[in-house]
Amino acid sequence: DQHLADFDPDIAALLDAELVRQQTTLEMIASENFAPVAALEAQGSVLTNKYAEGYPGKRYYGGCEFVDQVEQLAIDRLKQLFDADYANVQPHSGASANAAALHAIATAGDTILGLDLANGGHLTHGMKLNFSGRLYNPIPYHVIPETGLVDMDEVRALAIEHRPRVIIAGWSAYPRQLDFAAFRAIADEVDAILWVDMAHFAGLVATGLHPSPLPHAHIVTTTTHKTLGGPRGGAILTNDETIAKKMRSAVFPGQQGGPLEHVIAAKAVAFKMALQPEFAERQQRTIEGARILAERLLADDAVAAGIQVLSGGTDVHLVLVDLRNSELDGQQAEDRLHEVGITVNRNAVPNDPRPPMVTSGLRIGTPALATRGFGADEFREVAEIIAAALQPGEVDIEGLRKRTHVLAERFPLYPGLKPFTS
Ligand code: PLP
Repeated sequence: DQHLADFDPDIAALLDAELVRQQTTLEMIASENFAPVAALEAQGSVLTNKYAEGYPGKRYYGGCEFVDQVEQLAIDRLKQLFDADYANVQPHSGASANAAALHAIATAGDTILGLDLANGGHLTHGMKLNFSGRLYNPIPYHVIPETGLVDMDEVRALAIEHRPRVIIAGWSAYPRQLDFAAFRAIADEVDAILWVDMAHFAGLVATGLHPSPLPHAHIVTTTTHKTLGGPRGGAILTNDETIAKKMRSAVFPGQQGGPLEHVIAAKAVAFKMALQPEFAERQQRTIEGARILAERLLADDAVAAGIQVLSGGTDVHLVLVDLRNSELDGQQAEDRLHEVGITVNRNAVPNDPRPPMVTSGLRIGTPALATRGFGADEFREVAEIIAAALQPGEVDIEGLRKRTHVLAERFPLYPGLKPFTS
């Protein structure tokens, strides 16, 4: 049996190059994080070989005695983490979890009310090219342009006008907390089901730093790789027994075949990690880092450079930068930060005058750097580097890149991980 470096040196070299990229740059894509080595090991295991259609104790394949225990541990830990009665850990991704959730609570043609994509919603909340927009009848709600906050009056007015089957509360790019109780009140008023997609802020919920949607939502979906810090994947939670049954069959056989038990093992590892006190401390540093960055970008010199912070700050793990008044567009700003060694993504702002491939905004997140160990001092330095990089005109790229390298070296990522090639 040949190892990777011998059998496929091309792929081995690329994996090594990616490891070095992650180690030597500062990762600030708000949806990314670094899974612990223990999760990488679980995911890179022989469980990838196993078919296990069905659920623990009720499989359609033999030989499931060990993966049954793996999956049950993942389920039990996830339920404990979010104080939920029912959990499904099989969705392959956040989008798969969302497809299964909609499958469980709605029928093709039903109206769904979700946050507009350009206002911070996700593709799976009703974007027209996505399954959610093709199979269902999406009605978008928006943020109030002046405040950047979700317009709950509009949500209620649209709910009364369109009588949606499902109201979706959740986001991919929004810097504040949603009022789940207010969403539930509107859902009850029009007899709709409330689905909360907590993919982005699940890690904050798990540690009590963000209100939990579980007491309010009929069904909750999440990813496991964002603030939760585990392997790429999805999961679904509910406290409602009837919905739990529907979600179970919506995932399998409704949407998926065999579950990825190697990924489920890595999810179990990540849920165990999220139950430790260090995880709460990490989420605290995550939020603190985002606040420090927002405050720095609200300072006079940043305002003079045309930088605005959507909603005037943040309560979560990310900051949305509005560059409509800046010389730099979203693409140029993303490239500028890339040059200094900071990875972010450009992001449309509400009523963005520039095209979606360019945009007038940036989404900057702190989870991955908090996982790396960054605290307030390091986030202050990162905020200084970002503020300097986004100034108009000539910028000392070389000097800023040196400063990001110093930070990256002070907080080694995966120090024990051996490259495949040497
Ligand atoms: N839901 C929300 C709110 C997200 O932000 C994302 C990720 O971008 C997803 C779902 C989809 O997750 P995945 O990329 O794993 O399909």
